[in-house]
Amino acid sequence: MKEGSIERFLARSVTRSFSNYFRSYGPVLFFILLISTFGAAQQKKDRVMTGSAAKGGAPSDLEVAADLGQRLARFRRVQMPFRTAGLNAREQQLVRKLVEACGYLESIYWRQSDPEALTLYQSLASSPNRHDVQLRRYLWINASRFDLVDENKPFVGTDAMPPGQGFYPANLTRDQVEQYVKQHPDQRAAIYDQFTIVRWHQGKLEAVPYRIAFRAFLEPAARALRAAAKLSDDAAFAKFLRLRADALLSDDYFPSDLAWLELKNPKFDIIFAPYETYMDGLLGVKGSYGAAVMVRNQRESKKLELFQKYVPEIQDALPLAAEDRPSKHGLETPMEVMDSPFRAGDLTHGYQAVADNLPNDPRVHEQKGSKKLFFKNFMDARVNYVVLPVLRKLMEPEQAAKVSGEGYLLATIMHEISHGLGPAFARTSSDKLAGKVDIREAIGPGYGGLEEAKADITGMFALKWLVDHDVLPKEKLEEYYTSYVGDLFRAVRFGTAEAHAQAEMMEFNYFSERVAIRRNASGKYAIDYEKMPGAVADLTKELLEIEATGDRSRAENWFTKYGTMPEELKTALQAASDVPVDIDPVFSFPERVR
Ligand SMILES: [Zn+2]
Repeated sequence: MKEGSIERFLARSVTRSFSNYFRSYGPVLFFILLISTFGAAQQKKDRVMTGSAAKGGAPSDLEVAADLGQRLARFRRVQMPFRTAGLNAREQQLVRKLVEACGYLESIYWRQSDPEALTLYQSLASSPNRHDVQLRRYLWINASRFDLVDENKPFVGTDAMPPGQGFYPANLTRDQVEQYVKQHPDQRAAIYDQFTIVRWHQGKLEAVPYRIAFRAFLEPAARALRAAAKLSDDAAFAKFLRLRADALLSDDYFPSDLAWLELKNPKFDIIFAPYETYMDGLLGVKGSYGAAVMVRNQRESKKLELFQKYVPEIQDALPLAAEDRPSKHGLETPMEVMDSPFRAGDLTHGYQAVADNLPNDPRVHEQKGSKKLFFKNFMDARVNYVVLPVLRKLMEPEQAAKVSGEGYLLATIMHEISHGLGPAFARTSSDKLAGKVDIREAIGPGYGGLEEAKADITGMFALKWLVDHDVLPKEKLEEYYTSYVGDLFRAVRFGTAEAHAQAEMMEFNYFSERVAIRRNASGKYAIDYEKMPGAVADLTKELLEIEATGDRSRAENWFTKYGTMPEELKTALQAASDVPVDIDPVFSFPERVR
């Protein structure tokens, strides 16, 4: 689950419609395109280049949004250099091999996302026309014809995004799938499988395993991972790479996921799998391929290790009845602070994740847990190019200047750790042993927002605890509070529909009520650093108690009371409307999709 890429998954529900692609080529040809490496795409590209539009470029009848320049300006281009200092020649070679492997997942991702966009993207490759260059860049940012930061509305053509994107036939509805599996119960598992695409074949729905549908890309990707394994001096990482190569060709990620969680402070690591299912708007089950190459950030990782050992003590210190906070002594969650010099697939299009918690397989969670990853270079870029510029417009300047990459990193780390703190179950009965229920079930649909708020606030509580216990320097506390409040402003800029933004809106309103955040006569916001600790402690207690008691109406009342954006904040945010919504990373390695 990606963290901190908060608005990314807003508004996935779109009206269903046929896409042009399927009208023009039909599903059978689509399938051939899918399995035949880049042959078909290449032909298409050649045709455009050598045909009527000899210089390349978009077909003249193509309907493209007129405001591409403005849309592009919402993404600040930021260099994400591959820093070779401290890496020997062999290690650099290893990274290059991993980058090469990522390229194959990139090519699969576009076919899952929007095959028609891929064809168009490639046809524009040689066009010097300014408008074509802009269109090509915006296609790259979204890996589709649909604007991921504008409710997936089309910026090319007028067809709405098909909810099943490239995973299903464009016109297939959820009802049809449900009817179909009722009549063909033996097909149910395959159709709902995370690692199959679904096609009509001779009047039947057919589920094709990824390992077959995408073999042309998965085989060279596996070869590249095995070659990388040979370049690795870390036996555990090499073992993982080989197992992951096997997984690509079997669609069974379980053994390699276990090996991934066994890595101990690796110098190099990768995310490399079809883990996330957000892109599947039809059934919500299909995994989209994503990849990241990661190099350990030694300095920040050392800090993380330092305060990770205090987690059990923080749990014991939470303002919550002892029976509601199970001991964390003896448990460990692998965490890595990494710089990511390259990303591909669902990790590089749309919003840029600054933290991740993987894998999502509950069998792995049960047996080993999950790995929490913090992308330091992406976090710094977000702070510098989004959070800081927003704060400069909204806060008193001397306070805005206190936001820092380090404060943002620590707040994000403590947020992630805090998802695992507090109660494990809700007790809905006064009998302390009976009535244990899953908190998610007890709270219902509001759970997502509640849990995100709990993680934010418990995280800030924990940071104060670390300062009080001399683990972190006292003089940094204001920096931590400011970085946290800075993210509140950033997160609510685009509405409060999504769980993280809903949580942050509620937190902002609570702190305003406590006058820990106030709006000055100048119209700028300011933090009252004296009032923050008390307000944080009280809010921590409230949210933890709601979870521990599984009290749904208390949760609902809380969000009703604090969930609405104040008019004056709405007005204030307009001043920041020209600040980019996110960054557009530019890597040291060529961007390529085949
Ligand atoms: Zn979270």
